[in-house]
Amino acid sequence: MSKSPKVGFISLGCPKALVDSERILTQLRVEGYDLVPSYDDADVVVVNTCGFIDSAVAESLDAIGEAMAENGKVIVTGCLGKRADVIREAHPGVLSISGPQDYDSVLTAVHEVLPPRHDPFISLVPDTGIKLTPKHYAYLKISEGCNHRCSFCIIPSMRGDLVSRPIDQVLREAEKLAMGGVKELLVISQDTSAYGVDLRYAEHEWRGKSYQTRMKALCEGLGELGLWTRLHYVYPYPHVDDIIPLMADGKILPYLDIPFQHASPRVLKLMKRPGAIDKTLARIHRWRETCPELTIRSTFIVGFPGETEAEFEELLDFLDEAQLDRVGAFAYSPVQGAKANELPDPVDEAVKQERLARFMERQAEISAMKLEAKVGTVQRCIIDAVDGELAIGRSMADAPEIDGVVQIQNGYFAGLKPGDFADVEIMGSDEHDLFGEVSFED
Ligand code: SF4
Repeated sequence: MSKSPKVGFISLGCPKALVDSERILTQLRVEGYDLVPSYDDADVVVVNTCGFIDSAVAESLDAIGEAMAENGKVIVTGCLGKRADVIREAHPGVLSISGPQDYDSVLTAVHEVLPPRHDPFISLVPDTGIKLTPKHYAYLKISEGCNHRCSFCIIPSMRGDLVSRPIDQVLREAEKLAMGGVKELLVISQDTSAYGVDLRYAEHEWRGKSYQTRMKALCEGLGELGLWTRLHYVYPYPHVDDIIPLMADGKILPYLDIPFQHASPRVLKLMKRPGAIDKTLARIHRWRETCPELTIRSTFIVGFPGETEAEFEELLDFLDEAQLDRVGAFAYSPVQGAKANELPDPVDEAVKQERLARFMERQAEISAMKLEAKVGTVQRCIIDAVDGELAIGRSMADAPEIDGVVQIQNGYFAGLKPGDFADVEIMGSDEHDLFGEVSFED
């Protein structure tokens, strides 16, 4: 039986928090700690929290409470760690509290309760580190922080201004992941299109070629690896235009996760976001001319303080015009410390919910129509799981966790396994998902 000290780990929050968890877990394994899945087996429990919206705060506090009750030795880190007073008030007995990316504090706290017992012969860590995602896809974090100051957001105050990772580091990490069996990379940051601006786009060498620390060069480099590369959290800057030809050429996936947040110029101004929505629409049309397969995913906030019925209808008109493929929406909810809380004319809660329902209904029709248009086509899919006779895959248009899936009715009989690629004939659709079969000629 292993005598290694045992750590339990709970990872909450967004993909960025997941990457933080992976870094901490990798370091713990390097130092010889065992990672265990139950409170009973753990000598100490680390909870990586999210503090972005009120429901995430509540979920994080609940998770800390459960770990306290079930284990009693709890180390808290992550975004909610920035609000130590809130945590201490609810759970005064936690051993230590640290903020996001503060890996050193977490490890120091673990060492204090549970000194490492390193044995280099048994403490093996795969070269690719510890990943919490299935083996065939991985998140690739290119930067921390954000230079914008959207009025509803407290991320810059929690995570600071943009700090990019030099391009050669990122490309080397991607290469290592590819060698470890990863087939799909999900590029994440707070603002992917600003990548490298803080480093003045410094050039570095990778595989004998010079690359700038810049979104376009990053896409070109990642395109060399022959993986699926998917871009998340792209801010609607004009230079996003530069990467659309790379999508059309198959270098990176024709997929853009680009949060527009609203479509009324006045509301966008209140949000401190780019307000020229006509230009955005023209740009979307141009992108689709260059790359007709492009999938656009976006998120929106309805019921922002001061949003009038007419401004909300501008948003609905934008949905009709933009024909986005995937959309998430939230009714505005005040985030403690956000500037938007000081804005006048908050929208009544019932009105917010009614607008959210109307928004979702409008978009559901668009999404369903866009998926229906794929019936009869063949879609390249990556397989995530096999469940009975079904294989669950995703097309190029589907990011894991947030988008739909492709249910492949004969996946098991076709011998598909997680991480495989397959060409799937699409035979049906609903609002979220596609249904199809692999043809056996494949
Ligand atoms: S761009 Fe994103 S992370 Fe940056 S302030 Fe705006 S919402 Fe927050």
